[in-house]
Amino acid sequence: MTKVYLAEPRGFCAGVEKAIKALAWMVRVLEPPIYCYHEIVHNQVVVDRFQDLGVVFVKSIDEIPTGAPVMLSAHGTAPQVVGRALEVSPLVINAVCPLVTKVHHEVKTRAQKGYEIIYVGHKNHDEAVGTSAVAPSAVHLIESIEEFETLKDLTSEVALVAQTTLAMDEWADIRDEVNRTYPEVWMPSKSDLCFATTNRQSALKSIAIRCSTVVVVGSANSSNTVALTKVAKASGVARVLRVNTSSELPDDISGIVGVTAGASAPDEIIDEVIRKLNPLEGVETVSQTHEDEYFPPPPELRDLMKLLYNVASLAFGQKADGRSSILSNDRRDKASDALIGLTKLPRI
Ligand code: SF4
Repeated sequence: MTKVYLAEPRGFCAGVEKAIKALAWMVRVLEPPIYCYHEIVHNQVVVDRFQDLGVVFVKSIDEIPTGAPVMLSAHGTAPQVVGRALEVSPLVINAVCPLVTKVHHEVKTRAQKGYEIIYVGHKNHDEAVGTSAVAPSAVHLIESIEEFETLKDLTSEVALVAQTTLAMDEWADIRDEVNRTYPEVWMPSKSDLCFATTNRQSALKSIAIRCSTVVVVGSANSSNTVALTKVAKASGVARVLRVNTSSELPDDISGIVGVTAGASAPDEIIDEVIRKLNPLEGVETVSQTHEDEYFPPPPELRDLMKLLYNVASLAFGQKADGRSSILSNDRRDKASDALIGLTKLPRI
């Protein structure tokens, strides 16, 4: 093959950085097993790496023994499940992305005001399940215009919210149709599709027109990864491949290839994919925008880090200033490095 265009931004977003660094910290500091409600992020390589170190991913809080440490995933957790986790464990760290929390808040406040809420999302995706559970009697979860049409004639005021990781064009079609039917519909002033979703899709659009093949790195259950494959197909790319790792790349890729990655795909896998493609004319990074968003660790984890840091500082006779040190270190640290660091720990 001749050349690779590498979309920028791609891969880890601020929410995934936050969640992976938080779980990596717990793995380093606490005795296994650590229980994680749902996959921490939807990426098979990431999940496998944590499993090798004694993290147990569960689908129900009832699978967690009383007293064990619990992490709640980046996709957001139903309020009822958070309550149950707090009954079971004295240490519950909630790694929800703040942009998912924003949507939970929108659903909660609109439901309290008596709105019928149309929520565009993927049925059975962890984020959609958690968000719908915030106000189950008010939320109508739909995936398509056809499903919206079955809801017509809602009687009270209508609000429209969305899963953060939808394909932009699909979302726009449904939003426009809802607007035509309910011109007074309430929508958040800032779109629920997050910056990471829209940035990665825009970056991919800018390279897709030059490519005969696009490779999207990420897992099949990652909503924003699947959205990237839809964007590539809608841009007219002849061949769109989604791969978990470089071992899934076919041998017959030729011509100009675009490479991008879902928000939960690690850099090490993207690097492996590029190495395997080995383009004759090299790799050109095409940058659409620069992301510098940062989400600090979950508050429960910050408290725990601060406590341990201050105890350690005092033990060595230093001034204890846990909070500022933790945050400045955390902002500098990268989740990709934390993941690679985990490979050096003994497997359970
Ligand atoms: S994709 Fe968006 S909503 Fe999801 S974790 Fe990343 S920043 Fe948060």
